[in-house]
Amino acid sequence: MKYVSTRGRAPALGFDDVLLSGLAADGGLFVPDAWPAIDPKKWQALAGLDYAALAAEIMAPFVVGSSAAAALPKITAEAYGKFRHPAVAPLIQLGPNRWLMELFHGPTYAFKDYALQIVGRLFDHVLKARGARVTIVGATSGDTGSAAIESVKGSQAADIFILHPAGRVSDVQRRQMTTVDAANVHNIAVEGTFDDCQNLVKAMFADERLRTELNLSAVNSINWARIMAQVVYYVWAGLALGAPHRKVAFSVPTGNFGNVFAGYVAAKMGLPVAKFIVGSNRNDILTRYFETGAMTAEGVVPTLSPSMDIQISSNFERLLYEASERDAGAVRGYMASLKQSSGFRIEEPALNAIRAEFDAGKSTIEETAKTIANTLKASGYLLDPHTATAVHVAESAKNSAPTIILGTAHPAKFPDAVHAASGITPKLPEWLADLMERREKFTVLPSDLKQVEEHISRLSRAAI
Ligand SMILES: *Cc1c(COP(=O)(O)O)cnc(C)c1O
Repeated sequence: MKYVSTRGRAPALGFDDVLLSGLAADGGLFVPDAWPAIDPKKWQALAGLDYAALAAEIMAPFVVGSSAAAALPKITAEAYGKFRHPAVAPLIQLGPNRWLMELFHGPTYAFKDYALQIVGRLFDHVLKARGARVTIVGATSGDTGSAAIESVKGSQAADIFILHPAGRVSDVQRRQMTTVDAANVHNIAVEGTFDDCQNLVKAMFADERLRTELNLSAVNSINWARIMAQVVYYVWAGLALGAPHRKVAFSVPTGNFGNVFAGYVAAKMGLPVAKFIVGSNRNDILTRYFETGAMTAEGVVPTLSPSMDIQISSNFERLLYEASERDAGAVRGYMASLKQSSGFRIEEPALNAIRAEFDAGKSTIEETAKTIANTLKASGYLLDPHTATAVHVAESAKNSAPTIILGTAHPAKFPDAVHAASGITPKLPEWLADLMERREKFTVLPSDLKQVEEHISRLSRAAI
């Protein structure tokens, strides 16, 4: 399998290079050069598999030619074998024709584990095969940092440095990162904001010398391998509710569009899907886009669902590429306009192609809180604020297919918002119960590129 860039000006690469490089050399995102199809005769056999075995089957065509291809079944068995629910991604019925897929049974209680636990193991495999080492650098406003750290802790081939804004992430979020006891994990508390952290990371990647010296790498949400691993639970949920004989709809709490795009890939591979419902919070750039065809960035406002507080969804570029029938020139045009005038507009037929498969809706802070309270009353189920946006949006969407809401986080990760909405403080799960007593390890640094670079160079084992 070869991968091409959505901007059409980078060489096609195999899976291993795509995994390690993340972004294409022309600034575009990687997509497979053709979508593999699930063999119609195979559905019956797929329905009998457990989650790890299904994952190996669904991902296999994407890693053809990879040095990790033969190890894939072992990788999925190890990764998902550690999840805390035997079904890995269990479906709960919330109401007539309404289901919730719980995607928070991994180590950090949010859905990003489902992909990152695979990606970390793939990194290790590919780096070992190459005899190489990398330095993974990332910035976090709270949630993604811990999932990334959990995915590579203890790796012999990768060191990870996560920058968070000092004093500006919750105690639970910080401790999920800083109490991980592994020699290759390094937390840096930057005296500044999340934007400062992100700018430091960007500056490091732009520094050619540093990039080569430390073999810098990222595991952010534009990495194709993350999308690939997320395709699996769409097929899993579809099979549970009767695929391929019955169409289902998915309602997805959306930020960077990585999760819902993985669903779109599942549909491309042959999963019958009635509709994808894109759920936004008050930061509703996507909802406005689906209504008007115009993508126009506004400032981000904080909400109850911080992982969906986004300006522009980076993975949307992949959908633009598909909807414009893989016209890389058109994508380059959209992206140039985004940079120059912080917006772009797409016309029919591409817009119609998108609307045929996607609906969008938003949930205000009040609607999200009300949905948490109402769902608790109606079915005794406690939602986290991200999942609640998708429940709200699914209620107002017009479609008659069975609808699966993607539950992206455990309510205990957002105790204040959940308590304010429902009067109940969700208990930290047993695994995290002693989190507040564990020893923390992190370094405080000023928001200064030189000092951060020196710190990382000194500690990274990839330094040459
Ligand atoms: C990351 C995240 C999202 C958004 O997912 P995208 O793939 O960025 O659209 C939604 N909910 C939670 C809890 C998340 O951590």
